[in-house]
Amino acid sequence: MKIEIVHYPHPTLRHVSKPVRRVDAELRDMIAQMFDIMYEHEGVGLAANQVDLPYRLFVANPSGDPDNSDSEHVFINPVLRAGKGQVQGDEGCLSIPGITGPVVRKEKITIHAYNLQGEEFVGELEDLFARIVQHETDHLDGTLFIDRLATATMADLRAQLEEFEIDFQSRRDCGEILSDQQMAARLLELEKIRT
Ligand code: ZN
Repeated sequence: MKIEIVHYPHPTLRHVSKPVRRVDAELRDMIAQMFDIMYEHEGVGLAANQVDLPYRLFVANPSGDPDNSDSEHVFINPVLRAGKGQVQGDEGCLSIPGITGPVVRKEKITIHAYNLQGEEFVGELEDLFARIVQHETDHLDGTLFIDRLATATMADLRAQLEEFEIDFQSRRDCGEILSDQQMAARLLELEKIRT
């Protein structure tokens, strides 16, 4: 299955992802494609619903460097357990390209997840990696970083976001994008396979 990034306001970005119960060869292939897509767009993290998949998993490489595979991580069924401190930093998102804004996040976090081998691991993370993991876990809950922006910042970005909305609607009008009902049916089918 070939996957590609979906952009705001695609409904799958608002889908609450379901925990994965089965990691098979096709899912491994999709995860490999997620890394490729992330690097192609110079990202440091990518959640499954950003490539129109309903699964509770994301990939990350805080170095952003495809040659630095030691920094590549797959988080399957991640759960954020604890956080400490507050820190503000600029964020962007591959699903809303060109838009950035300041988001307050926990400075340090603890995350439990499974890797591709099905082993549970615990990450005690801080700084950029902690921010990435919070941003990506938000995605899996259907939350975008723009939901966490201050009202004044959001007002400044309104016109740019409207351009994304107009583009989405016109692509849907010419039949390039499925209807909401068709999308929901597709996600349900994919969920039946692995969740
Ligand atoms: Zn994002």
